[in-house]
Amino acid sequence: MATTMERFREVPSHSVPADELEVSRLALDCICRALGLPASIRLRWFRPLNTFDESAEACFGAPPWATFADDERIRGRMNQRDGSEIWVRSHGGPRRVALTVAHELRHVAQVSTHGFLINAADIDAHHAAIEADADDFASSAIDVLLPNLKP
Ligand SMILES: [Zn+2]
Repeated sequence: MATTMERFREVPSHSVPADELEVSRLALDCICRALGLPASIRLRWFRPLNTFDESAEACFGAPPWATFADDERIRGRMNQRDGSEIWVRSHGGPRRVALTVAHELRHVAQVSTHGFLINAADIDAHHAAIEADADDFASSAIDVLLPNLKP
């Protein structure tokens, strides 16, 4: 399947919809506890660049916020090196945000518990299994922890 790349930027939590913010805090807290992960894991937010961001870049050069390019469908990512933070895409609705938090925290646990995401070659070799495990965990965890969450 062809991948369409898109550029994204970090956004401050105050620009994230209140219902997404609330559910993200709940999910982060519950799932870190469920997986035995440290409460210090930080959540950062991103969204696609808009025309305002692009004109600001054109005027001022390098922006003061973090940017990256990735698959346009990306919902979240983790800090591959130490799992100290996860990144979540905003504006997808509370259920999507909760699932993404759970999915990314599962990746953190995969690294710290199973240790099989040590290098890029391992990630490539086990990519499908790693993603399937994170998706399965996320949907079960959110159904149990946040059963009343609307899509
Ligand atoms: Zn994943």
